[in-house]
Amino acid sequence: MRRDRPSSSPCLWKGTTLQIKKIAFIGTGIMGARIAGHIMDAGYELTVYNRTREKAEELLARGATWAGSPAEAAADADVVFTMVGYPSDVEDVYLTTDGLIRAARKGAWLIDLTTSSPQLARDIHDAAEVEDKHAFDCPVTGGEQGAIDGTLTLIAGITEAAAAPVLPVLESFSSKIFYFDQPGGGQTAKLCNQVSLASCMVGYADALALAEQSGIDAERVLEVMASGTGGSGASRTLAPKSLAGDYKPGFLAEHLRKDIGLALQRSEDLDITLPGAETAFTLFDMLCQIGGSRMGTQALTLLYQEEAACVAAGLDWSLLDQGEDDEHDHECCCGHDHGEDHECCGGHGHGHGDGHECHCHDHDHEH
Ligand code: NAP
Repeated sequence: MRRDRPSSSPCLWKGTTLQIKKIAFIGTGIMGARIAGHIMDAGYELTVYNRTREKAEELLARGATWAGSPAEAAADADVVFTMVGYPSDVEDVYLTTDGLIRAARKGAWLIDLTTSSPQLARDIHDAAEVEDKHAFDCPVTGGEQGAIDGTLTLIAGITEAAAAPVLPVLESFSSKIFYFDQPGGGQTAKLCNQVSLASCMVGYADALALAEQSGIDAERVLEVMASGTGGSGASRTLAPKSLAGDYKPGFLAEHLRKDIGLALQRSEDLDITLPGAETAFTLFDMLCQIGGSRMGTQALTLLYQEEAACVAAGLDWSLLDQGEDDEHDHECCCGHDHGEDHECCGGHGHGHGDGHECHCHDHDHEH
């Protein structure tokens, strides 16, 4: 889907006209590279930084400028977008001594698209305000396909009026924007979406297992669900991939575990229980522990399969709960404040017990 945009967007902001020309984009992974591509298509000048440069090569070949750090990327940008993985990545990019809060120019807009912690979003907003910069959380939904099509739904922690200056840029990669009016509001709403998604995924995985074990046609069951009340966005878009054995990531399993963990942490703060999210966390944590963290979330259905099918897909059940007695002293990836003796979690403190080994981020990055 293409839209024609002017090469810069004049916007009224507190009585002055803000010309947005230069955009910096940090985090050009599955989602970020696509979103940044739409921003370029809309005619903005783009500077990019990603931890692994190769993932920005396509954008560079199209004329984007490479920066050697988030600070360098942000130096003269009117708007800086971030789309990194974990809250701890967001914290690094914004709040370290050479982070965006200090490095961006006064008056710049800092917009975090990552699914991250609501409290961290509030901290970043407040820190930016002190430095005369504008920051807000703006997580997205719509998946890889939404990023490819430029039709993402944005969930913004700001009022519609306050976001007006950057609306043309946001519209270059979205088709709908919901405003939750306060810092962190976008992240909280996104976590609500994620707990619903997580239960929908467990729901369709259960349904497919029941169909297959009963010896009826699982594809036809999906059709029934789609034409009745048992279907969901997850069963429409991801269940066919599960059935086809296509576990390539659009949305990484480890990222959904992170999101559910953040939601469970929030539920603890509120002193409520979320049984559906608890179940989903247990299952996604298991999938990540046995080697599925960089698979797409649709690989959840592998947990219901015979071991041979899991092995063929690259999973290893012997990794489950390995090293439970290993003590470690690391910062949890979920990025919220755990204090000294937290239980690591991918976002919540459930069920690991003392001295567990952390499985919350099986990716390659260091603790
Ligand atoms: P991804 O492919 O892992 O992309 C994240 C990118 O951020 C990676 O390229 C990573 O670098 C980079 N990065 C991480 N920390 C960095 C840092 N400190 N400095 C610079 N770059 C850094 O993940 P994704 O699927 O695009 O998801 C990104 C975020 O959006 C996640 O929070 C996810 O939960 C959320 N989300 C994803 C989807 C989806 O369908 N994929 C949908 C909605 C929301 P490396 O290349 O070195 O790893």
